[in-house]
Amino acid sequence: MKLQGKVAIVTGSTSGIGQGIAKALAQQGSDIVLNGFGEPDKIEQERRFLSDKYNVTALYHPADMGKPDEIADLISITKKEFGKIDILVNNAGVQYVAPITEMPPEKWDQIIAIDLSSAFHMIHHGLPHLRENGWGRIINIASAHGLVASPFKAPYVAAKHGLLGLTKVVALEAARDNVTCNAICPGYVRTPLVEGQIKGQAKARNISEEDVIQNIILGAQPTKKFIEIEEVGALTVFLCGDHAQGMNGQIISIDGGWTAQ
Ligand code: NAD
Repeated sequence: MKLQGKVAIVTGSTSGIGQGIAKALAQQGSDIVLNGFGEPDKIEQERRFLSDKYNVTALYHPADMGKPDEIADLISITKKEFGKIDILVNNAGVQYVAPITEMPPEKWDQIIAIDLSSAFHMIHHGLPHLRENGWGRIINIASAHGLVASPFKAPYVAAKHGLLGLTKVVALEAARDNVTCNAICPGYVRTPLVEGQIKGQAKARNISEEDVIQNIILGAQPTKKFIEIEEVGALTVFLCGDHAQGMNGQIISIDGGWTAQ
């Protein structure tokens, strides 16, 4: 197991991609701090599943990624419980689809806070602990929308473009400390976040939900297939491994060819 003895925090890991990443890291022996919203029973079930199945320690911290003080607490509790922190996966994210003139300003603020600023706060508080170990990995889950735009997603596209800039800066600042920082840009993965957008896109474009799936979502991806959660988990594991020690400040797409066009 590649990551035995490591301690990883995965934000937004009670659902979708983050949940898959937490599982992939635990499968490689890493202890895990879960984070995100959801029903307490389901979260406890996930926590137990990881610790029982993979024989790792899994904890849950409920920090709201929109609240810098709670992010600071997530980092400090993790350090207190495990004595160290090795891997930060900044994955939590939300989406809202509307033309810019109808985009509620509070949605702009919320998406910038959760999809962009939370990664700043995680790294701001977490990087000193990674440096202390003389080893660390930071993986920011961005999006194809970090590289290209789609209409009706102003805050999301702005946040994800910003996250790629943050990734490059951190990569440069931490390069001499054996800490790497990279970003993964998935295309469409069929998670609750995308299910929610299907409805939003149908309304914004005045077309059926099936049209949204076939023509807007899969229309963007030349493979005409959704990306699987496991593909993002496997790339995260690779980036945490020794063979990725020279990969730093990179923007890596898994998007079925979307951004090759
Ligand atoms: P999801 O809705 O399934 O999961 C989002 C997770 O973030 C959940 O655990 C949720 O509880 C958590 N979360 C939301 N707001 C939070 C907050 N304020 N504080 C703490 N946790 C919070 O979504 P997903 O599709 O798995 O998305 C995960 C990441 O992947 C996001 O950053 C998203 O932008 C990115 N992404 C998703 C896709 C896709 O097609 N699904 C594509 C590219 C990038």
